[in-house]
Amino acid sequence: FSSRELTQTLLDRIARYDAQLNSFITVTPELALAQADAADALLTQGDCHLLTGIPIAHKDIFCTAGIRTSCGSKMLDNFIAPYDATVVSQLAAAGVVLLGKTNMDEFAMGSSNENSYYGAVKNPWDKTRVPGGSSGGSAAAVAAQFCIAATGTDTGGSIRQPAAFCGITGIKPTYGRCSRWGMIAFASSLDQAGVLSRSAADAAVLLNTMAGFDARDSTSANVAVPDYSATLNNDLHGVTIGLPREYFGAGLDNHIAVSIQQAIKLYESLGARVRDISLPNSALSVPAYYVIAPAECSSNLARYDGVRFGHRCTAPRDLNDLYCRSRAEAFGAEVKRRIMIGTYVLSAGYYDAYYLKAQQIRRLIRDDFQRAFEDVDVILGPTAPTTAFLLGDQCDDPVAMYLNDIYTISTNLAGLPGLSLPVAPVNGLPVGLQLVANDFQEARLLNLAHRLQ
Ligand code: GLN
Repeated sequence: FSSRELTQTLLDRIARYDAQLNSFITVTPELALAQADAADALLTQGDCHLLTGIPIAHKDIFCTAGIRTSCGSKMLDNFIAPYDATVVSQLAAAGVVLLGKTNMDEFAMGSSNENSYYGAVKNPWDKTRVPGGSSGGSAAAVAAQFCIAATGTDTGGSIRQPAAFCGITGIKPTYGRCSRWGMIAFASSLDQAGVLSRSAADAAVLLNTMAGFDARDSTSANVAVPDYSATLNNDLHGVTIGLPREYFGAGLDNHIAVSIQQAIKLYESLGARVRDISLPNSALSVPAYYVIAPAECSSNLARYDGVRFGHRCTAPRDLNDLYCRSRAEAFGAEVKRRIMIGTYVLSAGYYDAYYLKAQQIRRLIRDDFQRAFEDVDVILGPTAPTTAFLLGDQCDDPVAMYLNDIYTISTNLAGLPGLSLPVAPVNGLPVGLQLVANDFQEARLLNLAHRLQ
C-alpha cells in the first residue's frame, strides 16, 4: 500500500478516536497527505530511505516551521516557530510524514500528563488512568496506533516512564547524542531527545536518523553513530547484566518485581549472566534532581517575558506589570512551583547549600554507575515503581508525583542512555523494564530489548 493510504488510515483513526485520549495538540492532515504524496513519488523511483512515507508524530516541544509549537503551555499557545528543530529536519530529510504534534506536560514538567494546558491525556489501556509523562501524548499515540512512532524528550524519565505505562518501547539516548537545537529547553544539562515506538527495531531506525553531531548545539557529541539495526540480533552470551539492589527494594510493587524477574530469567536463558550490584547513592537522585532541574528551568524560562514571543497580558501599566502579569497568566501551577524553587536554590546565600550540593551528589551518582560498569555491561531494573495510576490520584501531592521517576532520574543525572521495554503486564496494565548502559552504548540497549521482543 502507499504512504497516502497509510497516512489517510491513521488520520481517520485519530479523527475517530483521539477525542477519547487527547494525545494530539495539533493534527496536520493537509500537510501530512502532501508529504505522503511526495513520499510515494520517491518510493516509485525506488531511491529512498527506510523511513520515507512513514507517518510519525512529534512531541510538541520540538520546533516545527509553520506549525504551532506550544510545549503544552498557554505561554506558547500562539507560537509558530520560524524554523525546524534539528531532530525534525533530520527525520523530514529521510521522508517521514508528520501527522501532528503530541500533548505533553507543560514545558515537560510532570509524570502524568495532567499538567498540560490542553488537558490530560488518557492511557489507551484504561482511560481512567494516566499515560505517564511528560511525553504522554507521544506514548498514548503510539500505543493507540495513531502513528508508527513518535519523538519524545527525557529530562528525568519522560520517555521511559510513559513508554512503560503505555506498553511500548522508549529510548533516551546518551546526553549529547541527539541535537537539542530547536527543542524547547527545560533543564539543559539533562534534556535529551529520543524515540517512542512499538519495538526496539523501529527505535533503531529512527534513532539512526536522529542521532549525530550538530554544530548548533554546544553540547552535541561528535561521536560516530553506529548502525543500530545491524546489531539487534547479537548473541547475548558473554553479556553481564547488573541488578542494582537499590532498584528492587521497598516502594516497588510486588507484581512488577515478579514481571521483571521473569524477564531476567529469559535473559539468562538467552545466555546473559546476571549479578547483583549496588548504586549506593540512588536514594539521593530525586532530591538532587529537584534542585538541579528547577534551577535550570528558572533560568531557561526567564525568556518568556511577554515581549519577544508567547503570551502577552493586555494593557500593561509598565514593564514590570508586563512581565508579572504575562507570566502569572500563562504559566501553570507546576511551572510556577519549579521557577520559585529554582530561583530560591540559585539565590545568593542558598547556592552553596542547595545547588552546589546537588551538583556534588550528581557527580557521586555518575561515579556509582562508572564503578558498576567496570563489572557489568548493562544495568537492569523496573522503569517505574507502579503501573499507570488513576487520573487525579497524585495531583495534590507533588512529592508522590516526583517519586514516579525514582528509577529513571539518575540516568539523566549521569548522562547515560536508558531504554524501557514492555514485559509481562500486571492486572491488564503494561509494565516497563529499564536497561541502562554506559555512554554511547545505545546499540547494546537496543540489542537486549530486541532479543526479548
Ligand atoms: N517527571 C520529571 C519532572 O517532572 C521528569 C520530566 C522529564 O523527563 N521531562 O521533571
